[in-house]
Amino acid sequence: SVTLSESVVLIVGLGLIGGSVAKAAKANQICRQVIAYDCDDQALKLAKAKDIIDDYCLDLSVAVAQADLIVLAVPILSMESIFVAIKDCDLADKIITDVGSVKNNVLTAMMQVFGELLPQYIPGHPIAGSEQSGVMAAKADLFADHKVILTPHAFSNKQAMAVVSSLWERMGAEVLLMDVQRHDEVLAVTSHLPHLLAFSLVDTLATERDNQEIFRYAAGGFRDFTRIAASDPTMWHDIFVANKTAVLQALNDFTDGLEKLKVAVQTGNSQYMKGVFTRAKVAREHFS
Ligand code: NAD
Repeated sequence: SVTLSESVVLIVGLGLIGGSVAKAAKANQICRQVIAYDCDDQALKLAKAKDIIDDYCLDLSVAVAQADLIVLAVPILSMESIFVAIKDCDLADKIITDVGSVKNNVLTAMMQVFGELLPQYIPGHPIAGSEQSGVMAAKADLFADHKVILTPHAFSNKQAMAVVSSLWERMGAEVLLMDVQRHDEVLAVTSHLPHLLAFSLVDTLATERDNQEIFRYAAGGFRDFTRIAASDPTMWHDIFVANKTAVLQALNDFTDGLEKLKVAVQTGNSQYMKGVFTRAKVAREHFS
């Protein structure tokens, strides 16, 4: 098998994340060639014209045949259809990874389609992104100084691990290893729950009468809290379907806390409110 610098990297799903991998790979001269496949032909043509990729392929099997390292960057619930589409390709000498925000369901989809966890498959998740989507929002430095979590499974091949780690490190990211279950629980709390709250808050205000008037008075706090509500609906729908159990647990814990705060507001329980706000302030200042 070829080294990373000699390899052809195939990006499947050339959106914000896939496009950023392509740009970062080219900017840092990490591999020999970056090619892409996407169901959106326009995105591929535009990316080629702008030199974000070296080439594209409208047939996934043809693209896979040319590739050494395959990066799946489609929405979470589309991963399974990609597995189905590449199932009959010769994957023996390929290394495959993905960037999905939920990890357990990708492995379940792989079991479903392949009947086993492929040793050359290394699941991954870059903890970097934005509320923007599409290849035109891609950035070459998106992963620099960010963490990337890899969740290798029991049969993951060491050489594949080394290549995928090196791909991310060459883009300036720090690679961390995590158990799949733990990954999904942690991300439910740190990322998925906050997005759900932001979507819910903005939707609640947007569906009220005279919302234009209300949004005119929205200041810094509202903007900080709700920036992420502009994120892509399909991507987030897929995340909540895929990570249902962990998200529901996080949501239950959160609504318990919120219910207690509601009572404190109702009854004017200053001690309780100040206790919560003070603990939160200390915790927030500690990690920022
Ligand atoms: P995006 O919408 O910008 O890009 C997704 C791309 O996949 C689009 O170009 C779309 O045309 C293509 N696509 C969709 N279904 C396809 C299919 N069946 N076959 C081929 N192409 C298909 O989304 P994104 O933000 O780049 O997210 C991609 C993946 O990265 C998701 O799995 C998401 O969970 C993960 N991720 C996103 C972020 C983020 O902040 N946006 C961060 C980390 C991980």
